[in-house]
Amino acid sequence: MADHDIHIIGGGLAGSEAAWQLAEAGFRVRLSEMRGGAGTTPAHQGDALAEMVCSNSFRSDDGDSNAVGLLHREMRALGSLIMRQADATKLPAGSALAVDRDLFAGGVTRALSEHPNVSVVRERIDALPSAGPVIVATGPLTAEGLAASIGAATGKDSLAFFDAIAPIVYRDTIDMDVAWMASRWDKVGPIGDGKDYINCPLDKDQYYAFVQGLVDGEKTGFKEWETDTPYFEGCMPIEVMAERGPDTLRFGPMKGVGLDNPRTGRWPWAVVQLRQDNALGTLWNMVGFQTKLKHAEQVRLFRTIPGLEKAEFARLGGLHRNSFIRSPELLDGQLRLKTAPHIRFAGQITGCEGYVESAAIGLIAARFAAAELAGRSLPPPPSETALGALLGHITGGADAASYQPMNVNFGLFPPLPDDVRKKDRKLGYTRRAGGALAEWMKLADGVAA
Ligand SMILES: Cc1cc2nc3c(=O)[nH]c(=O)nc-3n(C[C@H](O)[C@H](O)[C@H](O)COP(=O)(O)OP(=O)(O)OC[C@H]3O[C@@H](n4cnc5c(N)ncnc54)[C@H](O)[C@@H]3O)c2cc1C
Repeated sequence: MADHDIHIIGGGLAGSEAAWQLAEAGFRVRLSEMRGGAGTTPAHQGDALAEMVCSNSFRSDDGDSNAVGLLHREMRALGSLIMRQADATKLPAGSALAVDRDLFAGGVTRALSEHPNVSVVRERIDALPSAGPVIVATGPLTAEGLAASIGAATGKDSLAFFDAIAPIVYRDTIDMDVAWMASRWDKVGPIGDGKDYINCPLDKDQYYAFVQGLVDGEKTGFKEWETDTPYFEGCMPIEVMAERGPDTLRFGPMKGVGLDNPRTGRWPWAVVQLRQDNALGTLWNMVGFQTKLKHAEQVRLFRTIPGLEKAEFARLGGLHRNSFIRSPELLDGQLRLKTAPHIRFAGQITGCEGYVESAAIGLIAARFAAAELAGRSLPPPPSETALGALLGHITGGADAASYQPMNVNFGLFPPLPDDVRKKDRKLGYTRRAGGALAEWMKLADGVAA
């Protein structure tokens, strides 16, 4: 008989949280972490579990008006080890939850190493196990052998090694008195109506000023180990295109042909197109606008685009090394690989983004696995909760074809009724979430009992 009930691969933010949840539920966990054994990643510095590779912040801790703060609150309610250690090691940082990273990771490592149900094994796993249950939580820098095995199991183009993130805009912040809905040549696709894109028109002067802004804008550099990135082939940053010549974009992602502006009756000189990014229709991505411009620069420059003057961004653009699978297509609602349901995925490799989100998906993967080990089934948390909204996005709410990593944000939640005033909306989301989580927790407790 195996010496464990479940095998977790990867002892980062997600794997550590998952191990804790399962161990606390009474299951024996083998937690395989390659650091301290057969390897490391280019970003990690040490051997501790749950190492924070860059910033020492878990971002806003405001659970009343911030989606990630709400996620903190929900994770605390569910007995999160990551949140417990973050609270125990926090530093002064205004409304953010920043921690002493060494004390934090040391605390997580100790809690798991000392847990009677957890065996931390310093080993690298080079292939997906053929029997389970397994949770794969190997993160954005998954070791090569395992990545190849995941690629083979999920199929061509289903595992990305880099993200190429185009900014995402909240639909209700786009000025539709300027922008209009249309597909190029009014072409009707298999599920569209010929009016599938939001189009923001630029005249000649606006376009060339915008291109100059891209060329002059401050960019973030590549890390040394990212410089061999192959993404210039398929998804070139927009500023690199702008540097190739003032008209490159006008004949590329910003071409106006086939798009009659109903206000002028003509095609615009150039256009920015936005495509629906989630099933709810609350989030729209700027097509072809992957960029390494600094975030503040993106906000400033993209707000010069007619129709986007007041745009609020659910996500800003970026390009990084990042292994993630096309989860909306590959995973079921319980984070299981549809073609091999003994394997669950958790953490950033599912296409969520950030320490907190990764840990949250580790938590929920573990809750699903624990219920299954107990011979029961746990329904996903409601979409009104931060956990449920994030999970729903990963497992089906997002558009699979353009799937790119995403932080939790209110655009992932079902919209509030129209009569909720703008200034009350954030609190509206978080209050509604509180009630929904409480109901679901009763159910979760029943399943665990
Ligand atoms: C350079 C960089 C900077 C980042 N900065 C931030 C930031 O400032 N803020 C933020 O919120 N997020 C940041 N992120 C994202 C961050 O990585 C994730 O949010 C988070 O760490 C992901 O958690 P995870 O558990 O999914 O992966 P990780 O925390 O990376 O954990 C995965 C673990 O799996 C192990 N592993 C990999 N392959 C194998 C294998 N084959 N066998 C055994 N073990 C394996 C790794 O050693 C690692 O410990 C950054 C990511 C990178 C790459």
